[in-house]
Amino acid sequence: IKIKVTKIDAPVGISSAFEGERIRKADMYAEFGGNKTKAFELVRMVDLSEVEDHKIEIIGPDIDTADSIPYRLPLALVIDVAGKLMQEDFEPVLERRLHYFLNYIEGVMHVGQRNISWIRIGKEAYEKGFRLKHLGEVIYAKMRDEFDTVVDKCQVTIYTDAQKVAELEEKIAFPKYVSRDRRLASLTDESVDTFYSCKLCQSFAPAHVCIVTPERLGLCGAVSWLDAKATKELDPHGSAQPVPKEGCLDEKKGIWTEVSKTVAEISQGAVTNVSLYSILEDPMTSCGCFECICGIMPEANGVVIVNREFGEITPTGMTFGELASMTGGGVQTPGFMGHGRHFIGSKKFLYSEGGIARIVWMPKELKNDVAERLNKTAKELYDIDNFTDMICDETIATDSEGVLEYLSEKGHPALEMESII
Ligand code: SF4
Ligand code: ZN
Repeated sequence: IKIKVTKIDAPVGISSAFEGERIRKADMYAEFGGNKTKAFELVRMVDLSEVEDHKIEIIGPDIDTADSIPYRLPLALVIDVAGKLMQEDFEPVLERRLHYFLNYIEGVMHVGQRNISWIRIGKEAYEKGFRLKHLGEVIYAKMRDEFDTVVDKCQVTIYTDAQKVAELEEKIAFPKYVSRDRRLASLTDESVDTFYSCKLCQSFAPAHVCIVTPERLGLCGAVSWLDAKATKELDPHGSAQPVPKEGCLDEKKGIWTEVSKTVAEISQGAVTNVSLYSILEDPMTSCGCFECICGIMPEANGVVIVNREFGEITPTGMTFGELASMTGGGVQTPGFMGHGRHFIGSKKFLYSEGGIARIVWMPKELKNDVAERLNKTAKELYDIDNFTDMICDETIATDSEGVLEYLSEKGHPALEMESII
């Protein structure tokens, strides 16, 4: 039997209206993490028999034991969830929601995630009677309420004992984080038999449909394949729907009849053919919230990638905004596509056109951000060391001539590849 939890036992307001609230130093009563103390948060799936629903336990001192203000304590938030439909893959999705749940509390601020979590409790909240157990009450209620399809039982344990926090971080949190990262990295498009469609952005781009695969996340950067899978499970008739990976017509271009059929259905016939791995032939459409835009730079025989935050001109002769106005809106624009940052280090990026070796220019910040994965992929695909060093950026050149000069100086592979157009 599912019980909807609507009333939350806490002496302060709980609402999304408090989300943007900051707790300044002067107004702060207690603080956890933020480089001052150790703090981590973890949602883990356990067996139904191991959870006592609604149990909230504090191990270590509560905030009313303070001898000076601000009271700084280490913190471990361990949330055990169990349910017949719960899957380990949902853990990170639930865990990321903690950020929102905790910020809904009036007088509480949450920043970060995992073991860089940082929480502040304000003086006013403390005076109204807010204590650690109320953190647990909110987390409990929200987990049961928002994830009722998968969470049948939930218990929250809050540790503030320094030794215990350190020990648990080592023993349970780190191993979990590491195995999750491995799981995500090991997921390839080949290793699954289902992709997901997402139509969340149709309200402002009616013909747009994202196809989310393990190696190609949604272009907003916020919907990974695991997220889409969890979304479907949590809300069966919601924005994400499974697409069977059937009817492969071209492995290199990434064409599946089922994918095209789904896109045609959801876009109501506006888009009928999609190649998941090509920028030139039937590329995926873009709504408007892409993290990056990739566009061809014919004279360099490659592509330029620019992220939303970059305001200056790119070697295509256009800024991000100008590129966005021709790429977005849910139409297919061969030669241009919106995508998430994480897609850049993928083996499926421009797979049909020769892969990441086509990337000739990126803003420096973006280049640094994706360097580790991109370099690893370049090493695996082409045996090139430190590939990002061959990619030009705005500190080197933004004009055609300057970019080309840099590319030939570095021996960039795109110059030797077959013509992109
Ligand atoms: Fe969904 Fe993100 Fe694509 Fe929008 S951009 S349809 S939210 S995956
Ligand atoms: Zn969008």
